[in-house]
This record gives sequence, C-alpha cells and structure tokens, in this order.
Amino acid sequence: MEQIDIAYDPLAVPLKHRVGAAAAKKLASLGLDTIGDALNYAPRRYFHWGKLTNLADLTEGEEVTVLAKVQSQTMLRNRSGKGVRLQVTISDGVRFLNCTFFAKNEYALTHHRRLLQIGESFLFAGKVSSYRDTLQLVQPSFEEIETDSPEAVARRSGRPIPVYPAKANLPSWKIQALITAILEDIDWKRVPEIVPEAVRAEHGLLSRSEAYLQLHQPDDDTAWQSARRSLAWGEALVLQAALLRPRFEAEKKGKQQATPLLGNDTLVSAALSHFPYQLTRGQNEAWEVISTEMAQPLPMQRLLQADVGAGKTVVALLAMLRAVESGYQAALLAPTSVLATQHYASFVDLLGQIDIEVPVHLLTGSVTGAQRNEILARLAAGEPGIVIGTHALIQDGVDISRLALLVVDEQHRFGVAQREKLREGRQLQPHLLVMTATPIPRTIAMTVFGELDVIEVTDMPPGRTPVETFLVSADNAAWMDRLWQRAREEIAAGGRVYVVCPRIEAEAGEGDKAPLPSIEEVVPRLEKLPQLEGIEMAVAHGQMSLEHNREALSTFASGATPLLVATTVIEVGVDVPEATMMVILGAGQFGLSQLHQLRGRVGRSDRHSVCMLVHGNDLTAIGADRLRALERYDSGFALAEVDLQLRKEGDVLGESQAGGNSSLRFLSVRHDGAIIASARSVAEEYLGSDPQLGAYPGWQQGVSERARTELVWLERN
Ligand code: ADP
Ligand code: MG
Repeated sequence: MEQIDIAYDPLAVPLKHRVGAAAAKKLASLGLDTIGDALNYAPRRYFHWGKLTNLADLTEGEEVTVLAKVQSQTMLRNRSGKGVRLQVTISDGVRFLNCTFFAKNEYALTHHRRLLQIGESFLFAGKVSSYRDTLQLVQPSFEEIETDSPEAVARRSGRPIPVYPAKANLPSWKIQALITAILEDIDWKRVPEIVPEAVRAEHGLLSRSEAYLQLHQPDDDTAWQSARRSLAWGEALVLQAALLRPRFEAEKKGKQQATPLLGNDTLVSAALSHFPYQLTRGQNEAWEVISTEMAQPLPMQRLLQADVGAGKTVVALLAMLRAVESGYQAALLAPTSVLATQHYASFVDLLGQIDIEVPVHLLTGSVTGAQRNEILARLAAGEPGIVIGTHALIQDGVDISRLALLVVDEQHRFGVAQREKLREGRQLQPHLLVMTATPIPRTIAMTVFGELDVIEVTDMPPGRTPVETFLVSADNAAWMDRLWQRAREEIAAGGRVYVVCPRIEAEAGEGDKAPLPSIEEVVPRLEKLPQLEGIEMAVAHGQMSLEHNREALSTFASGATPLLVATTVIEVGVDVPEATMMVILGAGQFGLSQLHQLRGRVGRSDRHSVCMLVHGNDLTAIGADRLRALERYDSGFALAEVDLQLRKEGDVLGESQAGGNSSLRFLSVRHDGAIIASARSVAEEYLGSDPQLGAYPGWQQGVSERARTELVWLERN
C-alpha cells in the first residue's frame, strides 16, 4: 500500500498558492480558502445550451432560461408613488424582452444596475408573465456567462454547464474557469478516499476524485447527480462515525465505564405497586430497556422519544429511583425553572404516595443562601437521592459526588457540551437518559443525537381524547365571538382556558398588516369582552418574576383564575389536567413543534378538549400548511415528519460554530434519510472492528474535523 504523506494534503493547500493572489482574494469573499473548499463549492444548478429557450418561443406562465444581451436599463418610479422598478431590456439580436426588478428605493437596485451592464450577456431564469399585453420576466435570477470563449463554444455540445452561487466581481463562469484549472492540477493519489471501496461498490458510488470531477464537469445530468450522491454518502459516513466513535473506543478499552445499577427493588417495586395508575405498554417497554441497560457496566446512552403527555416523567422517576436504591444519586436537568419546579412538585407528590423517604432537592437559580449550601453539602457528601435543577446544576461548585444517572428533560435546548459538563472528569460515567419534548424526525434524531440509541413510546395513557383543533381567522368577528363564548362554557363546566400570545409588548402595525397579538393589548381587550365578564384572569410571561409566574400557574391550576393569558413560558411540560381549551393567537408565528407542544397543555384528562389556532391575514403559505397539519394530525411523530418536509434545508439544523468546514454541503437531512440510516449501520460495522478507522485515512480525517462541531435541530422557525 502506498504510504500517504499526511504532511501534504492537497485539499488543505491555500488557494493563493494555486490561483494567484487576486483570484484567491475574490474566492475568499465566497468563503473559499483552500483547494478543498473550492472542490466542495457545489454548483447551484446546471444548464444546457441545447435546452435554452429562444426569445421567439416564450409562452406566458412558463419557467424559462434565456441567454440574451442587455440592451438598455431604465429606472422607473411606480405610479402608486411607493417604490421603484428597474426595467432591463434584453435581446438575442432579433427579439426583445423586458425584465423588471422591483425595490423600495433605487439604492436597493444599485447591485443590479452595476451588474447588468449594457452589451453584457447573461442567462436569465424566471417565469414568463405578461404586462399590458407584452411578455416579461419579473425579478428573474441572472448569471453572467462568457459566451465567446473557445471553452464556452466547445461546451455547447450539450454537456451540463454548472452555475455557481456567484458575486458581482466573480461571476459563475469565472468560478467555473478557476475550478477547472484547480481540478487539472490535483494529485488525486494524495486525496484519500472517505467511503470504503466495498461500500462504494454496494451502493454504486463514485470514487472521491471522480465525484469531484463530475460535480464540476459533468458528462451528463446523471453524472452530477451521481457525484452529489457519492459526496453526500461521504458526509453521512463522517457524521455517523464522529457521533459513534467515542462509544466504540470506550468499549474497545473494555474497562468498566459506568456503575451497574442493580438496585434492590425496594423503591422501584414500591413505586410500581403504588402509582395511581398502571404503566402503559410503551412505558413498560421503555422501563424494561432502561433498567436492563442501567444494570450494565457500560454507560447507558438513551434518547427517549415520546409524544407530549405520553408520560415520560414517570419513566424518568423509575430510573432515578433505581439509582437511589442502588445507593447512588440521580440528577434531572430541566430547561426552565418553571419546569424544574414542576418536576420537583410531581416527584414529591408521587413519592409521598409511595410512602418511602427519598431525599429530593430542587436546585435552581432562585435557591440561595443557607438552603443552597445545605443542598450542595448533601450532594457533595454523596447522600443517595434525587436532585432536580436547571443550568444551576451545571455551575462550578456543584459537586454531585455519587452521580450515577443523569436525566435531561426536553433536550433540544441543551447543547451536548452542557450535558457533558455533568459527566466530564469522572472515572465512572453516569448513565444518560435524554427525553425530547416532542418527537423529532428519525433522520434528525440520527443526525443530532446520533450518539444516543433511540427508544420510542408510541402509545398514550388510557382515557385521552384527541384534542379537536380548529383554524380561526382573527378577522372573522362571528367566529371570534363564538370562540370566547366557548371559553366561557369551558370554564363554566369546570375547565381552564389558556390564551397564548406571540408577544408581550404591543407593536405598531405596518401598512395593512395587523400588529401581532401581544399580552399588553390582549389582556385589556379580553377584560372588556361581554363573554368573559366576571371571569378572573392570570397573566404569565418571561418579563414577570418567577414568583409571579408560579403564582399565576397555581391560581390557574386551582381554578381561582381559570383563564391564563401567557406567552410560550407555558409551552413545555406545564401540567394542569383541568385545562380543556387552548387558544393560540397569532398562531402563524410559531413553529410546528411549538404549536404541538402548546396544544399538549390540554387534553390531559378524559375530558374533551379543543385547540383554536387563531391567525391573522398575514399567514404565509407555509404557515398555513403548518396549521393545517396540526388540524389533521394529533401524533407528534407524524407532525415531526411534516415539519421536516415543510422546512427549507437551511432551517433544519443550526450549527453552534458558525460557517466553516462543518456544514453539510451535499447531504440533505430532508431528503437523504435513507443514506443517513445506511451510513449509520456501515459506520457501526466498521467502527466495531476498528474504532480508529486506521485503514481509512480520509474517513478518519473527516471524523476528527467533524468531531469539534455540534449540530442542533432548530426548534423554531
Ligand atoms: P410528558 O411525556 O409530556 O412529559 P407527563 O410525564 O407529564 O408527560 O405525563 C402526562 C400526564 O399523564 C401526567 O398527568 C401523568 O400523571 C399522566 N400519566 C403518566 N403515565 C400514565 C399512565 N400510565 N396512566 C395514566 N396516566 C398517566
Ligand atoms: Mg414532560
């Protein structure tokens, strides 16, 4: 086998050593610094000279790409007096066509005016429309094309031409020329493969060099598609191996890594026999898996996926009791102090019913002074028990000396780094149980929580009736009247009503756009409604003190204030079984999982519940699709998949480290679920025999680079 000189990695070579300082500077403005960056710079699309539309053949309503020269530019003021438009006339030498670009003012069009120089040729792409009986393109996208170079002429043979995301001083054809030069100059033997040959053969993938060549200089459309797929596979393998490798390394070392929690079945069996209900089949299965894994000397790493209200808390409590009865400590990390407090209250309540003394501590930012010191002392002393807290648990000075189980509730608000803070520097790793607030799509779970094994609880405690969901337009006065009447009826029947607003403070509306509903504006409005006369209201939001919000929730729960106007502070985990109606104002403002989570605040008993999604006249098409999905599905698992499909690729994953080499360029979490799943099993197989991936230097290198970055599922839209 040829020795690879790792000191010389052709992809790491700075572009300035290859393309000259001026070109390198321009490429740097696109974020391209190395040869590797340039190779990974994917064309936005491809076009075919043969498939360009002739200006003579335009039909209204058609999507076209035309090649034409700019003939003239005219800046016009719109008749309405609002805004301007740039009219660019283009021609193929015989016929003419107008392209129109709209903007608020002429400064916003400076870029267009500078680029669209008279006499220059561009590819214009857009939809043909007609204005006063003349065909035109409105806001077409355009790319500068060098039409007369021998290269370009030769290429008219019918091969696809890549179109790159370009800039004013660096048009697509120049990028293409630079990348072509770079491709000719690479010593491919020194570019290590990522995807093992056997995997390439099995899945019909190109070698890495062939993939880059076909990406930038494809023979035909199949070739670039195949190139993208091959490069996506490489990214998927790197990602999965980076997520899974630490575990395989630990297992290889063969040392005891975690405390086996065997228990003596005093607490757990007492709990099971004294709970006010039977566990559901799903809860039982989850507990079975969890208790078995915690009994192992290897750290459990589990992601518990379940729908809102499926009863994750009790599963977590059992796991924590198992730790305590084994003589250890268990910690529960919650995203907000409201939630931490609520968990604390429900644990104390449930444990009271079991009638066994187990120390349970609450550690949030508002626990201070002597009380805090005592808790810290008991945690440090290693006294077996349970501690529930927020970020306060992760702060320096908190030492949970016999921590054997960490439960993270509503995970996607915590980064891995925060979670690891509780686990780092310990000889024995605590077992880890992560619970999501609402289910997240499978592909995402494998991408973002790839280091965790997933367990799903898909059933619900008995007696739940699905929440009936309605879309209501805020402009429809009759429906709104009926809605508030319904609120009154729910309360009269012993129910509680949540009213959620997207904002706290009132904002001014813009143009004919109504302002978003705010607590400030909604509360006085509701107070004046005849339907709500005599009904006491509570208010809770993030600018109120913690005490205030706690009090508001408790008077709401008790029924003293049966109507609660709140922001999304109530989104997660709040559990008031009497609540039967959820009114979400400005519903178009919220993400799908957030809306599902909010809706999960009702339907928590055997009483019929309703959820009203009230939207304004500014609902976007995607916003409407989201609301309709909620109307249609009540399963969080189904909604999670819909959510993924409704998003744009860039709105799926956030990266804690901005930009850089970490982003997924070819792998689409929306469309490549199958690749991600296959790559995961391939990674498991190869890591199983060689956790270092020593035989695959390219793969290994990718893994080390990827290991430093963290992807998160963006919860909001
Ligand atoms: P989530 O999974 O959203 O965290 P919770 O753990 O808050 O759900 O549980 C929701 C409600 O269901 C709670 O009121 C809880 O007491 C109740 N519950 C949980 N498990 C069962 C069960 N097996 N039978 C009946 N009620 C249950
Ligand atoms: Mg919960």
